[in-house]
Amino acid sequence: MANTISIVSSKGGTGKTTVALNLAVALAESGERTLLLDLDPLGAIGFSLARNDTDWRGLAEHIVDEAPLNEVMLQTRLPQLSILPRGRLDPLDIDIYENVLRCSDALQNIIAEVDAEFRYIIVDTPSGLGSVTRAALASSTHALLPLQAEPLALRAISQTLHVLQHIRENENRRLHLIGILAVMVQLQKDVSFNIMSTAWSSLHGVLETYIPRTDIFHLASEKGLPVAFLQGRCPPEAKRFEMLATEIKTIIQNLGGDMGADDERP
Ligand code: ADP
Ligand code: MG
Repeated sequence: MANTISIVSSKGGTGKTTVALNLAVALAESGERTLLLDLDPLGAIGFSLARNDTDWRGLAEHIVDEAPLNEVMLQTRLPQLSILPRGRLDPLDIDIYENVLRCSDALQNIIAEVDAEFRYIIVDTPSGLGSVTRAALASSTHALLPLQAEPLALRAISQTLHVLQHIRENENRRLHLIGILAVMVQLQKDVSFNIMSTAWSSLHGVLETYIPRTDIFHLASEKGLPVAFLQGRCPPEAKRFEMLATEIKTIIQNLGGDMGADDERP
């Protein structure tokens, strides 16, 4: 069974997709079989790893046209990384698509079908704590919460923790919180520094690794790439995600919930 990690936040633009993409790349580069699953109807992951998005099929074709999952899952240029992108979603079919993803049984079946092939499944969720995000949590073994080092972020975290606890108590006892990942951090700015000081002193589970705010993420998203793939550079931001992958593996082992620990898989 894979460790299925949902990246969740009650706010939009908090770096979920950036974290999901770059974390999945770092895990794959560390040798772990990893799947990046895009549950956001906006389908941002599709734009990030494909050269030619229009050729792509994905989850939409599986849900709407019943295409087999193994036919719509894509191998990336990293041998250990596959992606299950949104695919081409006819706006007229969006209700069918979302109704399936809202149903945690259906999502659990989708994950169960591919689970054995991977050590990690990273789930990019839509913004907010709506039904698709809740179904993702009900189908995951772990959750990772990005905390944007900006005003109001701490309130958003407490809402997300509340939903997480509710789902753990009522729907999914396997769900563990990996922790809170500070992103877009600028310690040289007072606002960001103050939020981080409050988070570090008053919140449990803030990860040691944090992701700074730098322009390279804009450059990477303009080019549709994870930061590690930017040519001619070895950005320190990619190193951050390597550190994050290592920290997350240790946390999962310590939680006792490492679903692949006793496997024969490489
Ligand atoms: P979400 O998926 O939560 O809506 P995104 O990952 O799409 O958020 O990020 C929102 C915007 O912020 C994007 O333009 C992205 O390039 C930018 N961004 C994300 N992380 C960082 C960072 N650490 N530093 C600077 N910009 C970032
Ligand atoms: Mg997103």
